[in-house]
Amino acid sequence: MSVIGHLINGQLREDSARTQDVFNPATGAASKQVALASRATVEEAVAAAQAAFPAWRDTPPMKRARIMFRFKELLEKNADRICELIGQEHGKILHDAAGELQRGIENVEYACGAPELLKGEYSKNVGPDIDSWSQFQPLGVVAGITPFNFPVMVPLWMYPMAIVCGNTFVLKPSERDPSSTLFIAELLHEAGLPAGVLNVVNGDKEAVDTLLEDARVQAVSFVGSTPIAEYIYKTATAHGKRCQALGGAKNHAIVMPDADLDNVVSSLLGAAFGSSGERCMALSVAVAVGDQVADALISRMTEAMGKLKVGAYSEMSNDFGPLITRQHKEKVVGHIDSAEAQGASVVVDGRSARIAGYEDGFFVDATLIDRVSPEMTSYKEEIFGPVLQVVRVKTMEEAMQLINDHEYGNGTCIYTRDGEAARYFCDHIQVGMVGVNIPLPVPVAYHSFGGWKRSLFGDLHAYGPDGVRFYTRRKTITQRWPSANLREGAQFSMPTMK
Ligand code: NAD
Repeated sequence: MSVIGHLINGQLREDSARTQDVFNPATGAASKQVALASRATVEEAVAAAQAAFPAWRDTPPMKRARIMFRFKELLEKNADRICELIGQEHGKILHDAAGELQRGIENVEYACGAPELLKGEYSKNVGPDIDSWSQFQPLGVVAGITPFNFPVMVPLWMYPMAIVCGNTFVLKPSERDPSSTLFIAELLHEAGLPAGVLNVVNGDKEAVDTLLEDARVQAVSFVGSTPIAEYIYKTATAHGKRCQALGGAKNHAIVMPDADLDNVVSSLLGAAFGSSGERCMALSVAVAVGDQVADALISRMTEAMGKLKVGAYSEMSNDFGPLITRQHKEKVVGHIDSAEAQGASVVVDGRSARIAGYEDGFFVDATLIDRVSPEMTSYKEEIFGPVLQVVRVKTMEEAMQLINDHEYGNGTCIYTRDGEAARYFCDHIQVGMVGVNIPLPVPVAYHSFGGWKRSLFGDLHAYGPDGVRFYTRRKTITQRWPSANLREGAQFSMPTMK
């Protein structure tokens, strides 16, 4: 069985002392193995990044950006191969993988603007013969640790921006679907990236802890589940590093009595079940305002869900694929069981999905649960599967209170025709990314992505303008070249401009 290795100092490397199986989730069979890097291997990657830093820092931003332009072209040229690798190991359908790749490419396009983004700020004559400017300097070696659910897009949230800003990078992708991540890193080298600027180490906790503890690593970007995000943030900051750690979610959609139910049903289908619900922005709770709305929603969703197709990644007519692992499938089924045991009613039950030819795949079919309440475990925790829960409330205030009380605050949305209600919702909801009649309000590459509360640890969001800030340090220089007639004697009061 082939072993997926590392990319260190521009070279593909094997390190197979410890390995782990990589599965094809549609068949349930182990198809490859991935190397789990030792502490020494990770330290070698950090050393390569450290050695590459001075020359890369001094490379003009325009030259760094040109490599990103070529990288974008190579990503587009190799799109079929990239999507195939995503499908084989993640299980998402090829059309969904293509969407993931496109969203990733948009971050590369934004990074191509580095010369403009790094221009800094300049003020002439802040005092007599005094000019002042702020410049944004790279940090040095930075690390990224990424989740399984977007093996291409989430790494592309991080390293294109970090690298065009002049940093060097060590990436630790998810060990569950590492091939597409490694392949696109090879493409960046084909685009002309010097050896050592981007290094990829596959691995588990040992690799992550090495990055968190290594004093040469200046900053850590993390995306994954909340318990690990919290651990990463605490450990990285305790070691003096800058850190942004994006965590899990429970995204609610409020359905108001005046909502356009056709739009609600079609957009909830994609947002709840697309990618098998394995998206941190998946809508997993519909909060229906009034029993009339709830009854209509349940009846129309039930009918529409009957037409959904779950299956293998390669069949473009499928709507969504399997879950990532057998253990994750058991966890999702366990959440549906617990909702039922705690009094909710399972209206559409996807627990016994059987796909002809893929009997051992990790499939759960689309599931709809009604009469869910806030005390239930399935409501409190992130399910990360194709499960939509309906909570019934009487008023919009009650719906908003529910969302504001939840520990997560990643994404949310309101369906309404009432502009005043929508505006009130946007202003007062305690969530980082908000949609109005838009189910997946994932910010475009030139805005920034991040949740509130326990969906994000740290101050800066991912990519976009916050990405530039996260991967640079501001330095402000104040300079005077006094002309002969302006030379002054010693001054002991605070300098001011009178
Ligand atoms: P995960 O937390 O299990 O793993 C993420 C990364 O952390 C992986 O690289 C993994 O190897 C590493 N890791 C896992 N356990 C670790 C440990 N004990 N110590 C150190 N490192 C460890 O997450 P996942 O299952 O790969 O991804 C799904 C989760 O990611 C969901 O909770 C989802 O909501 C979240 N997610 C969030 C966002 C966001 O932007 N907020 C985006 C995508 C996914």
